[in-house]
Formats: sequence, C-alpha cells, structure tokens
Amino acid sequence: MSSVAVLIDHDRGVPPGGALEALTAARRLAAELDVPVNAVILGDSELFATHGAELFAACASYGAAGVHCGRHSLLADYGPDAWGAALAAFVEAAQPAAVIAAGTDRGAEAMAQLAARTDLPLVANCVSVSSASDPWQITRIQWGGSLLEDVTLSSSLPLLTIAPHSVEAEPVPDGAADIETVDFAPDLGPEAERTLVRNRVTLTEGITLSTSPVVVSGGRGVGSAEGFAALEDLAELLGGRVGCSRAVTNNGWRSHADQVGQTGTRIAPEIYIACGISGAIQHWVGAMGSKNILAINIDPEANMVTKAGYAVIADLHAVVPAISDEIRRRRDRPLD
Ligand SMILES: Cc1cc2nc3c(=O)[nH]c(=O)nc-3n(C[C@H](O)[C@H](O)[C@H](O)COP(=O)(O)OP(=O)(O)OC[C@H]3O[C@@H](n4cnc5c(N)ncnc54)[C@H](O)[C@@H]3O)c2cc1C
Repeated sequence: MSSVAVLIDHDRGVPPGGALEALTAARRLAAELDVPVNAVILGDSELFATHGAELFAACASYGAAGVHCGRHSLLADYGPDAWGAALAAFVEAAQPAAVIAAGTDRGAEAMAQLAARTDLPLVANCVSVSSASDPWQITRIQWGGSLLEDVTLSSSLPLLTIAPHSVEAEPVPDGAADIETVDFAPDLGPEAERTLVRNRVTLTEGITLSTSPVVVSGGRGVGSAEGFAALEDLAELLGGRVGCSRAVTNNGWRSHADQVGQTGTRIAPEIYIACGISGAIQHWVGAMGSKNILAINIDPEANMVTKAGYAVIADLHAVVPAISDEIRRRRDRPLD
C-alpha cells in the first residue's frame, strides 16, 4: 500500500526532534490521503543492531505504521550522495504518495539529492500542506522566516521538507502500535562515496542552542564580552544555554555558534530570556519559536519588549544578577 514516507534524519542513530515533527506533520497529511505513515531509516547493519530498536520505538510513538530500513555499508554514517541514492532506490521500489523530511541541514540536503535524482519538484520549509485539492496547497516560510508564501504543487510525487519548529512533535494519543519493518538494500555505486563523513569535531558540548529548554541571550546592551558572565551564571542555574544577537558576534564578544536569528540558530525553548536585545526582524525570526519570552530592556518600546509575554524595563546589569540571587536564595531556603 502507498504511504506518506518520512525520512528519519538521524545522527548516528539518535533521532532528532525535527524528524518527530516531520512524522507529526506526515500523520495529518496521511489522514487526508487515507494512507499510513512509513518511516525511512538509512544505516548499515551495525547501526540497526545498535540503535534500531530505539529508532523503531520513536517512529511508532509518533505514528509510523512501518519502517523501511535501507541497509548498506556506505550508509554507516551520513553522506548526501549515499542518502540521496538510497532514497531514490526506496522511492522507485515503494512508490510512496509523498516523501517528507525535517527542514534541517541534513533533511534538506538529502531531499535536494532525491529531487535532483528523480527530477521531481521539492517544496522546502513547509508550515502547512493540504492535499485536499489538486494541485496541493502549501504554505512555506521564506527569507529566514520573515515571509510566508502560498504555493501550489503539481507533482506525481510531492517532496517536502517541514520548517523546523513549525509543527509541535506530538506522540500518537493512544500509544504506539506494533511497527512493521521491511529491509531494502540500495544498489549504491561508487558515486555514492563522493561525499562521506570521515571525521567530526564537536564545537559545543551537551545541549545545543537549538534544543535547549532555556536560552538566556544577550545583545548589544550587555556591553562587553565580560558582561556575559552574569548571563552564563543565570543560564547554568536554569540548565540552559547562552545565546546572543548579531551585534554581539559582530563585536567579537561571543562566537557565531551562539547567535540566534536568520543568519544564526533558530531556537524553540520553553523560555527565552532576551537581555538588552532590541528584537530586530532578523533576530526575531530565530527566536519566535520560543514558548515564552522574558525581555529585559531599558526601552519599553523595543520590539522584543512589545513581542514578549513578560518584560522587565530596567538595566540588565542589575536585573540578571538579581534573578540569579533570588533563584539561589529560594533553592537554599530550608523547607518549612
Ligand atoms: C542580512 C542580515 C542578517 C542578520 N541576521 C541576524 C541574526 O541572525 N541575528 C541577529 O541577532 N541579528 C541579525 N542581523 C542584525 C539585526 O538587524 C540587528 O542589527 C541586531 O539583531 C541588533 O542586535 P541587538 O538587538 O543586540 O542590538 P541593538 O539593536 O543595538 O539593541 C540593543 C538593545 O539593548 C537595549 N539596552 C541597552 N543597554 C541596556 C541595558 N543596560 N539594559 C537593558 N537593555 C539595554 C537597548 O534598549 C536596545 O533595545 C542581521 C542583519 C542583516 C542585515
């Protein structure tokens, strides 16, 4: 039976949040098309032996009825050519009704490979997809999130990526059903080896900016690299990460890896604490996925203040340490 197929853009067997968002989006589309959702996982035998059970369980929890497991030694780690060729082999064999992936760097690259190999159109960064009419009606994010674009798609096989954080990943309400797994062995030629991951250097340890539940960010108002010590302290107390605006990276106070925004990282924490950040559109598009925002700013008219759910209009150099002190005081206070 045909299905909506979802590429699980796992990282060495770890399922990323984006794939779970893509599975959630696929469920809605599959209900419209009256077909099941099937996941596609690529790896070698060792990856499936080590991480298969965990990956299959995640797929089942988020609504996949089956998993197509593409096995090949060249799929031991990520490689865009190998993933693209394996996906093309899957499409030819399984004839899905649509193929979806998360709009992550990896998901977008693998889907672009698939589109090029199959000569099919790819619609990237979708926030809503309806197959109710022909052509399909799609809304997608463009220009770093500052523009929503309505698109019609006529294709024998729609290929889509889902904009990160545009859909909340929701497990199936009734609990995971049994999942069926089917192996396929793509015939990968030497061209699949053109780009393969050989080595990786981790630049940030632990939780990343894009997945942290708390982000404490500083802008030009912080005033110096040293001024970030108070933000580091608060972030640590809250189990979060420090982010920043581009004014900060331009000044060399923090590295670009910490930058939130259109040309930085898109975040979706439970709470975003924006200290001395005006909230320019290029910053906002990276922060707007936050569930709650606390702005600390001396300007009550700053964009970040008007968009935030909570605001403190005061000097951040006084407010940030005061919040940390109060957290410590409450944690240290003996229970009555
Ligand atoms: C193509 C392009 C891409 C861009 N990409 C990004 C991006 O990815 N991310 C990004 O952030 N920007 C990006 N920018 C830059 C963006 O337009 C803004 O210039 C930048 O976000 C401003 O940073 P800021 O809010 O820290 O500084 P400002 O706009 O100067 O704001 C500083 C804020 O601090 C407040 N303040 C000052 N002192 C204090 C204090 N003591 N206590 C409390 N508040 C105080 C002020 O009231 C003000 O609101 C991009 C721009 C372009 C053109």
